[in-house]
Amino acid sequence: AKDLKWREEDVRSRINHSLVKGITEFIEEDVEEVRQTLPAALQVIEGPLMDGMGIVGDLFGEGKMFLPQVVKSARVMKQAVAYLTPFIEEEKKRSGDQSEKGKILLATVKGDVHDIGKNIVGVVLACNNYNIIDLGVMVSADKILKKAKEENVNIIGLSGLITPSLDEMVYVAEEMERQGFKIPLLIGGATTSKTHTALKIDPAYNGPVAHVLDASKSVPVVSALLGDDHADTVLEYKSAYATLREKRLATQGRKKFVSLEEARKNKLQLDWNNYNVPVPNFVGIKYFDDYSLEEISQYIDWTPFFKSWQLAGKYPQILSDVVVGEEATKLFDDAQKMLGQIIKEKWLTAKAAFGIFPANADDKDNIVVYNDKERNKFSETLCQLRQQTKKADGLSYFSLSDFIAPTSTKKEDYIGAFAVTTGLGIEEHVKAFEKANDDYNAILLKALADRLAEAFAELLHAKIRTEYWGYSEAETFSNEELINEKYQGIRPAPGYPACPEHSEKEKLFRLLNVQENLGINLTENFAMYPAASVSGWYFSHPQSKYFGIKSIDEDQREDYSSRKGPNFNNRLLNPLKSL
Ligand code: SAH
Repeated sequence: AKDLKWREEDVRSRINHSLVKGITEFIEEDVEEVRQTLPAALQVIEGPLMDGMGIVGDLFGEGKMFLPQVVKSARVMKQAVAYLTPFIEEEKKRSGDQSEKGKILLATVKGDVHDIGKNIVGVVLACNNYNIIDLGVMVSADKILKKAKEENVNIIGLSGLITPSLDEMVYVAEEMERQGFKIPLLIGGATTSKTHTALKIDPAYNGPVAHVLDASKSVPVVSALLGDDHADTVLEYKSAYATLREKRLATQGRKKFVSLEEARKNKLQLDWNNYNVPVPNFVGIKYFDDYSLEEISQYIDWTPFFKSWQLAGKYPQILSDVVVGEEATKLFDDAQKMLGQIIKEKWLTAKAAFGIFPANADDKDNIVVYNDKERNKFSETLCQLRQQTKKADGLSYFSLSDFIAPTSTKKEDYIGAFAVTTGLGIEEHVKAFEKANDDYNAILLKALADRLAEAFAELLHAKIRTEYWGYSEAETFSNEELINEKYQGIRPAPGYPACPEHSEKEKLFRLLNVQENLGINLTENFAMYPAASVSGWYFSHPQSKYFGIKSIDEDQREDYSSRKGPNFNNRLLNPLKSL
């Protein structure tokens, strides 16, 4: 039985309790009770509700509350505000009054589709009485700035996950400068950094620019930028970024590259003469139209799930962690429940494609994929990059092409490609949650869909090794061992460190006819949409491993661009410029 003793306290304590504990059940009746005692409905928000959220904010700041709880508190707040809105609208009609702390426009930039982090920031800010205008994902600079003017917003916040978004953010900053904006620009998202913000974005815009490390920093940053001392805050940011730039300038030139030629000379030399290439059991392309979500769910790696909710720790130990254990357990229970529902009620459809193709490497860091067994017909040339920052003598400069037998060895090698999605059907359910002012479940669903996509990639990879390619027919790994990559071979994903240039995904999508058969689209910056999608290459060689390209020098930039051909937009290599 629930302990309802708190219901006997006075109404303000009850509202605090509901907000801190994230209980929606009684909020409308309590809010109505207070409303009747105050001259205006707006004062319910500005008084008891904001006071309650203030407690939540303090507890969060002190590390005594965690993100899932805050999002649940925000859900209570949102539902209370939704209840009060008709009354407030009525009052506004009479008085024309509008009071909120500030209007903030949020958007995931053009070409990018990821919005879990942005949504969390929006929720956290909204429950601190900021008016959030969320333009969603894939939003062009034009649209952002037009809306910012129309709505006369106080701050613009940009979000992005993939590396091309960094450039898009620079572009938005340039446009803000050109169009005479003065309002603060916030930068957030996985590939953004203080360094990139200082070096590339801040110089493009004379107005305030601030990199926001994570959602928990959004409220203090925004309130400083809009508060009474905002002029000092702006100067602090500007001078911190200027100092960072000066430091970089002083150390510039210290990053040493070897020439591309030398890097190629020192490539990883595998012992092809003494190597028997595993001949795949299956060559060609195969599709899965409606894969069992139940089976996929067995392969979930839960640790990143907790990370997406800013709970630090490894699963399953995190469930009994002294600090976050209790909240992690609640979150996990909610996740299990929703996962059960996703599976039972088929909220999502899982589709996959993979291909195993004859392939050899050339001597220019390309992997040539053939259409036929005889290796006469070319189908795609996969352009790889090579590590180029100077290493100690004797160390190799890696490229993924090193893991495929060069044509000169006369060995008939193979490469695989795959794409999976578990995001089909998600929109309808996310919208329903959002409509019910339930961001907690909307975010939970997106986070689960992402987990299922990664799990599907893990499952499919296991099937490839044991069945279709069959080079590790006898392997039997636990899920934990799979997560720790105990198996032979890798599945590097275009856009990630070993193959960081995103447009290679176009070739992968062509090879497998992904768009048509799976319904995954590529944005103009090569993000996959739905977001809960994963794609990559399969390498079977026992010595293949993950590495990072990090940055490349001018000679490789030119060489790569010429290999890619005249239609290649070499801005895509900007993230590989050393900062
Ligand atoms: N268990 C994790 C798996 C995803 S992270 C999860 O559920 O989130 C690991 C994946 O990221 C790899 O399988 C690979 O596809 C990609 N990856 C990791 N390091 C990489 C690198 N250096 N280059 C390219 N892809 C990489």
